[in-house]
Amino acid sequence: MGCAPFDYVTVDSFEHAAQLLRTYGEDAKLLAGGQSLIPMLNLRLLRPSVLIDLNSVPAHAPIITDGELRLSALTRHRSLLEDRLIEAHAPLLPMVAKHIGNVRVRNRGTIGGSLAHGDPSAELCVAALAVDARVDVLGSSGGRTLNASDLFVGYLTTSLEPDEMITAVRIPLPAPRTGWAFEEVVRRGSDFAVVAVAARVRLSDVDGTISDVALALGGVGDRAMTVDAPLLTSAVGTDGSDESLDEIAAMIAAHVEPFSDVRASAAYRRHLVAVLTRRALAGAIARARGGAS
Ligand code: FAD
Repeated sequence: MGCAPFDYVTVDSFEHAAQLLRTYGEDAKLLAGGQSLIPMLNLRLLRPSVLIDLNSVPAHAPIITDGELRLSALTRHRSLLEDRLIEAHAPLLPMVAKHIGNVRVRNRGTIGGSLAHGDPSAELCVAALAVDARVDVLGSSGGRTLNASDLFVGYLTTSLEPDEMITAVRIPLPAPRTGWAFEEVVRRGSDFAVVAVAARVRLSDVDGTISDVALALGGVGDRAMTVDAPLLTSAVGTDGSDESLDEIAAMIAAHVEPFSDVRASAAYRRHLVAVLTRRALAGAIARARGGAS
């Protein structure tokens, strides 16, 4: 069928894009990597009258500032795999990026596009929640910073206003003795995850027991989501024994309300939540102990 006709504008700054969004409103769409937008245009699921191409906006290299790793929204998935600063300070990002689509998708897709698209199974949405990321947002009336946990509000829906865009992603630098892990099940390589789980675990400097834990899930609801803190408190103060991890994984699986679709039944998704949560917690604990790479 091909996409419906649209005007095409290229910009060299986020500020210019914000002005254009103000002018055109909901008739306009931003183009970043195009890996989700272009298929949607081709299927005529979206029919914007104007496409604002962000690809000439300079994407700054990752930097560390004010205790955070700061990435341009235009950072490509491939850079997440290759950048040494990201590998050193946010190793969960390369861990998840290698699971995204295929090499063509990773060459073009951007972190800002992925978060703004808000697919409930998107690896980067799950990772952003697990690392407590924040996003810098620019709109026609100014800027604001949002927690990733406030960004995803429903299926392919975020809390961004129609005239707002993500300009940067901020990731707090990890505390000592923190480990991460990511686990997912896909039906075929390059597919979106059926279920994805990311874990972040911090160990106590004093006795090596778990002092903090965060978990994020993809593919079990209408958005990527964090596991409520009270469900994780039983892990705190423990040494992460097999029994305690089994117990937490079973408890979380009992609490989620997964859906059924052509890829998996709700019951299978619940089973995956238990299995992948267990593996992700064990992997994060091992990395926090320095026992896994
Ligand atoms: P675009 O497609 O350009 O834009 C997506 C949406 O976000 C559009 O609505 C656009 O207007 C908006 N947008 C873009 N940038 C911004 C911004 N800075 N601020 C506000 N809004 C913005 N993704 C996965 O997570 N996992 C997978 O396994 C996976 N597999 C894929 C397989 C294939 C074959 C393809 C084609 C895609 C796959 N994707 C997958 C999607 C891919 O990761 C996309 O790159 C990503 O979802 C969107 O990023 P983008 O930069 O391409 O955004």
